[in-house]
Amino acid sequence: MDVTVEKKLQDLWKLQQIDNKLDNLKAVLGELPMEVSDLEDDIAGFETRVNHIQEEITSLDTEVANKKLAIKDFQRLIDKYEDQLNNIKNSREFEAIDKEKEIAGLEILSAEKKIRDYVKQIESRNEVLTTTKASLDSRKADLEFKKAELTEIEKENEEEIQKLNKDRENAAKKIDERYFRAYHRIRENMKNGVAVAPIVRGSCGGCFSKIPPQRHSDIRAHYKIIDCEHCGRIMVDQHVSGIAAFAEAKEEKPTRRKMRLTTAK
Ligand SMILES: [Zn+2]
Repeated sequence: MDVTVEKKLQDLWKLQQIDNKLDNLKAVLGELPMEVSDLEDDIAGFETRVNHIQEEITSLDTEVANKKLAIKDFQRLIDKYEDQLNNIKNSREFEAIDKEKEIAGLEILSAEKKIRDYVKQIESRNEVLTTTKASLDSRKADLEFKKAELTEIEKENEEEIQKLNKDRENAAKKIDERYFRAYHRIRENMKNGVAVAPIVRGSCGGCFSKIPPQRHSDIRAHYKIIDCEHCGRIMVDQHVSGIAAFAEAKEEKPTRRKMRLTTAK
């Protein structure tokens, strides 16, 4: 029943290769959902600004309308004072009414100035509104594009990810619980998620430090599981990895474009 060290290493190596593929697929997908959610945040921000500016414009419009009504009222007052002035008896009464008329005239001037101020403010708000709406529209177009791209890539990768997850399940079943935990512990500590590294030209394929000759032959002997002295990754020799000149798995991440070329038939 005892599983040989060589078999254990082979199973761990297999699991590592499946995880490498899954990590690569997730890395490719990883950027897009983030870009989509950034754009959604941007759009929400611009929509809030557009609404706010529109509210400001509406309230300025109301102010203008109110001032116009006030001007009409003062104009009616002035008309009334003029009628009274035409039928006045004494000069004291004349002066009093004339004073009222003058005040109403000043009120109209002041209201007209206010209206000019409001109109200027409305104009500048409208300019800001136009540029904000343009930014909003361009973000919306970007979002539509990115969402379509994301859906497409997800569809393309979905099948592959499902297959890899199944492979992973099967590969994990063959591995002793203790090694499985160790594998994950090492993997979590590595930026590139590589816990099982091949020997590449006499060095650790994970951290590239030289492996002493004695350790190298111990690894080749498969009498026990041996880790890299420097990074702690589990070492596998060429016999297990099947890799002579190994360019480190995670070093060459496929770009999104490359990914799509390789997944498309
Ligand atoms: Zn190492």
